[in-house]
Amino acid sequence: MLRGLILFILFTQVTAGIWGRLCDGNPTNRVRGTDGYGSGFYGAPRGRRTHLGVDVICSDGSKVLAPFTGRMVRQAKPYGNNNAIDNGAMLEGSGYCVKMFYIKPKNNLRSFRKGDVIGTLLNIQDVYPGMISHVHIQMCDTSVDPTPYL
Ligand SMILES: [Zn+2]
Repeated sequence: MLRGLILFILFTQVTAGIWGRLCDGNPTNRVRGTDGYGSGFYGAPRGRRTHLGVDVICSDGSKVLAPFTGRMVRQAKPYGNNNAIDNGAMLEGSGYCVKMFYIKPKNNLRSFRKGDVIGTLLNIQDVYPGMISHVHIQMCDTSVDPTPYL
């Protein structure tokens, strides 16, 4: 009984939540804290606006993994200015619809299983030197906080 409880606690601390881990090297989907550019939490201030997603720490060039089983709907660009990190994907499946930014989706990415590699993290340091590199994920309905799924 006690052993089971301890195993349960260990398990919950070393794995991601309902969604799988988003980034190779960050098994717990740890969220970006505050750096010189702001903080990575949902609803964090961005000047007069607010942050509509959550930033999961990820090193530049890391493999990015599918949070759930689904398919790529289309490319989704965060800025539309074609800078070095202006790429991403809209994904749908398993009852979710999300956009993930700052990733280069795999060529011809269509359907995938939870945990499959779907792309690589772009070079955030080229655009925002000193920022805590991360993959940004937001719900297609941005009024919903994605954090509980991480
Ligand atoms: Zn973000």
